[in-house]
Amino acid sequence: MPEPVRARFAPSPTGHLHVGGARTALFTWLFARHHRGVFILRIEDTDRSRSTEEYIASILEALRWLGLDWDEGPPTPGYRQTERLEIYKAHAERLLAEGKAYRCACPPEELEAARAAAQARGETFRYSGKCRDQNVAADVPHALRLKIPRSGQTVVQDLIHGRVTFDHGQLDDWILVRTDGSPTYNFCVVVDDVTMKITHVIRGNDHLSNTPKQILCYHALGYPVPAFAHIPMILGPDRSRLSKRHGATSVLAFKEEGFLPEAMVNYLARLGWSHGDQEIFSREELIEHFDLAKVGQAGAVFDRAKLEWLSNHWMRQAPGERLAHDLASYMERRGIPVPSDRRWLAQVADSLKERASTLRQMFEMGVFYFAEPANYDPPEIVAKFFTPEAIPRLALLIKRLEAQEAFEPDALESLYRGLVAQLELKLVDLAQLTRIALTGKTVSPPIFQVAAILGKERTLARLKKCLAVIEGKA
Ligand code: GLU
Repeated sequence: MPEPVRARFAPSPTGHLHVGGARTALFTWLFARHHRGVFILRIEDTDRSRSTEEYIASILEALRWLGLDWDEGPPTPGYRQTERLEIYKAHAERLLAEGKAYRCACPPEELEAARAAAQARGETFRYSGKCRDQNVAADVPHALRLKIPRSGQTVVQDLIHGRVTFDHGQLDDWILVRTDGSPTYNFCVVVDDVTMKITHVIRGNDHLSNTPKQILCYHALGYPVPAFAHIPMILGPDRSRLSKRHGATSVLAFKEEGFLPEAMVNYLARLGWSHGDQEIFSREELIEHFDLAKVGQAGAVFDRAKLEWLSNHWMRQAPGERLAHDLASYMERRGIPVPSDRRWLAQVADSLKERASTLRQMFEMGVFYFAEPANYDPPEIVAKFFTPEAIPRLALLIKRLEAQEAFEPDALESLYRGLVAQLELKLVDLAQLTRIALTGKTVSPPIFQVAAILGKERTLARLKKCLAVIEGKA
């Protein structure tokens, strides 16, 4: 790269950050970080009727959660389009003064009628250029249009799609500034990218059709055109464009569910980009290997099962203290009382992380750590263990455990092994009964670990309660 890379992510705050936008942000961020360039965040809030402060806050929260830090952008002033209106105005005036743009006084009704007629013919509406040489006076209500070449072609040299050619016959003299003085979306994007010295425009495929219009505006302004990379869309399992119909698509919904951000980043990175067959990437590895040339041209299907698989991988990698912190936030958000002993909570998380993909799953699987089981489940399996023979065994087990000082998993296992040998039972008989008593379920983390984490007092209380239930006394 000859120059310092400056790449931007430019969300419109008309909704929450969805996975498609997050992947665009991630690819752009990775590209900038890989090239030791600058990552810029720009808020495209010119559509005032649909943009809200809440959506801006929510987009920033999602980016922060993913760890996509920006070098330039809010809260520094000047990175929101609504703060930049003077800049657009100055550029529009220059284009007009240089004869590269012209005033158009065509009445809206006339344009609407022409649009409807084109639609009826099954064609895209293109402005006729009626006012192009009319020298409309400044005091007549007017829009400002870009004068584009009547013939020829504009070629988009896309880093992902290669050469994409657009005939000028398919384009028209598009509006830069509306009659009410507001600049249009495509005009703002160009002026922003120029004035922010953007070298690489990385964005969704849905913007490819805007690109020839924007390139013509760069030419008119006399500025060099940046490099473009249009990333293919994310698809649902039915291969249509991913949308709410396919389930949660907002990044914060995945956060709420308790996916780990490193899993989300890893997953989104592999959605359309590859590096050999590698599936698991740390953030550092992604920065090292990311290359736009390895982004595919076809849309990538969102696969929740794979996200869960990756999330379980990153869960298993995470230290218990970190998971304790995340689990505590998850519980707090749901108004569930959080145990104050964080070291204990870290042990809990460590015991659950093997089988959990999300913090929600972790909490649900480990709910018995926080509250005594209200019932024993599933009844038909539990019934197999709640037999008259179980009563003396459990009573003996309780006696032995009461006498037991060391309550670590290994010590507990030796105790159990000694006891089953004496009673001529299999380890599983006593272990499963204990599991049901302590967790209320027939599946749990390793039971000696569970007993050790619950501690002697709670373990014994739950075993006694279970004994009473089997005896029919509770
Ligand atoms: N604001 C546009 C969007 O949210 C992105 C425009 C661009 O990246 O050029 O889709």
